[in-house]
Amino acid sequence: MRVFLLDGGTMMIDRSQLLWNVDCGVRLRFPVYSVLVEHDDGLFLFDTGYDLAHVRRVFPKEEPLQSEAQGIVQQLALCGYAPGDVSYVVNSHLHFDHVGGNRHFQDAKTVVSKSELRQAKVPETFERYAYSDQTFDHPGADFELLEGDVELAAGLRLFETPGHSAGHYSLLVEPPSGQALLFAFDAAYAQESLDRLIPSGFHLDPTAAVRSLRRIQKLARTYGARIFVAHDAAAFSGYRLAPAGVL
Ligand code: ZN
Repeated sequence: MRVFLLDGGTMMIDRSQLLWNVDCGVRLRFPVYSVLVEHDDGLFLFDTGYDLAHVRRVFPKEEPLQSEAQGIVQQLALCGYAPGDVSYVVNSHLHFDHVGGNRHFQDAKTVVSKSELRQAKVPETFERYAYSDQTFDHPGADFELLEGDVELAAGLRLFETPGHSAGHYSLLVEPPSGQALLFAFDAAYAQESLDRLIPSGFHLDPTAAVRSLRRIQKLARTYGARIFVAHDAAAFSGYRLAPAGVL
């Protein structure tokens, strides 16, 4: 098993969005990335970043910076793969900065929480922008809908971590040897979210989001896993990016 982090560029955010109500008015640039896992059962791509044209159109204030090399197809090529090689696109959730490249993977199954897909189709008013990129539902999309914690394949498990969104999943990777990896995705934007138990400013249910932060901590302890957070520039600077493997 090999695990790669695919750099998807950056956007701007207010720190009060990174950590709910903390330091309003402080603007930060934050990373967006995807996770590619080479597995005996196929090539798994977890999240697909944001679509640059979409963000420029819908969220110009987020000042997206994404070079051509940071496009999802180019990042995949860095690891020696073409879009047709991907067997499964697994979305932690369906917010625009996690689904922007889904449409490039016409031959892959789209694996996502059933409740997340329902919510993305009929969001609360305040969630509409977060679900504004609906291209994950492309003409070739073949959904496999999940409920509860799921073992996708040997050493690849999804754990329910709702609150940020209705059906959010975090990923535990247990390689045959070496330390386990726990990708919190948007259940923890930043390391500080975990340390202070403060969820992101954007959430559907803040109480559930705090429960999910506790769950991530507990999972990390149980499996001796290294935690990867979603949108933390300082943490991201310590991650090994493709074409190097994480392990
Ligand atoms: Zn999100």
